Amino acid sequence: MHIVVLAGGVGGARFLRGLLAAAPDAEVTAVVNTGDDVTLHGLRICPDLDTVMYTLGDGIDEDRGWGRRGESWTVKDELAAYGAEPTWFGLGDRDIATHLVRTRMLDAGYPLSDVTAALAQRWQPGVRLLPMSDQRVETHVVVDDPETGRPRAIHFQEWWIRHRAALAASSFVQVGVDDARPGPGVVEALRTADAVVFAPSNPVVSIGTVLGVPGIRDAVRAATGRVVGISPIVDGAALRGMADRCLPVVGVEVSAEGVGRHYGARSAGGLLDAWLVHTGDQATVPGVDVRAVPLLMSSPEATQALAQAALDAAGAGPR
Ligand code: GDP
Ligand code: CA
Repeated sequence: MHIVVLAGGVGGARFLRGLLAAAPDAEVTAVVNTGDDVTLHGLRICPDLDTVMYTLGDGIDEDRGWGRRGESWTVKDELAAYGAEPTWFGLGDRDIATHLVRTRMLDAGYPLSDVTAALAQRWQPGVRLLPMSDQRVETHVVVDDPETGRPRAIHFQEWWIRHRAALAASSFVQVGVDDARPGPGVVEALRTADAVVFAPSNPVVSIGTVLGVPGIRDAVRAATGRVVGISPIVDGAALRGMADRCLPVVGVEVSAEGVGRHYGARSAGGLLDAWLVHTGDQATVPGVDVRAVPLLMSSPEATQALAQAALDAAGAGPR
């Protein structure tokens, strides 16, 4: 069985861990958002790829949900002592080694997909880890500049981390997306997979960014296997994150139903065959098999059960 999962960082990584527990013999391909990628202090940083890689490779800091366990911050402190901007990004010493290897390989001309495979040699994540694209696509956010009062586009990371998504945003822009192509293996994996799963990741700046790469949305629509989505919105709010800040920007209601309708039914020009919402949440998405199951990834057992529910929904007969 081959399962393809579209994933962002924390929500994607935790779901993938549950999926590997639920289906230890399955071949799993993770197509990961790279719209959050950024170059800081000369280092190329891929937050979502690293979160997935560290989580599945047992190197993640479980409490933070990102970055390395046992991290230290000497370089960050030293950079701050020089007044070297930016100072708001969490750049740990262990993590920096990953970024150094990545940056050196990219500078030598290797595509991100090859670099990711090389880094995964160490971490053995147990899934095939594919960047959504080898081309640079960076999410920017159009905000009202607090100083000038005029609209200005800033990198998603600056909005998310430095401003805690508190600056009013009017739109998201995927810089570079017009020239981007799906990463090697992405379309092929989607086409032939037995199931495609949208992890409970941010529908706008994680899954939405992946789907924005020309060719990926069409490949999902053309997939042979069923497409199952998992709501990241539980009881009208985002868990462990600020996804609820992103949905209103694109005009989507912050609810499981709102996100389900945003993805839409494959039978009606959208993407989903099935949609999992949390027990107690109500959602009607015309043309979609909506199922209510526990969606809290609060323990390994609960996450595995959630992954099993996704597999069950994916196996519910031909579409
Ligand atoms: P990021 O790139 O690190 O922000 O992570 P993702 O985009 O992969 O995931 C963020 C989303 O995960 C948020 O929208 C959260 O609502 C969702 N999320 C986090 N924990 C859980 C959970 O236990 N259950 C569900 N259903 N969603 C979760
Ligand atoms: Ca992310």
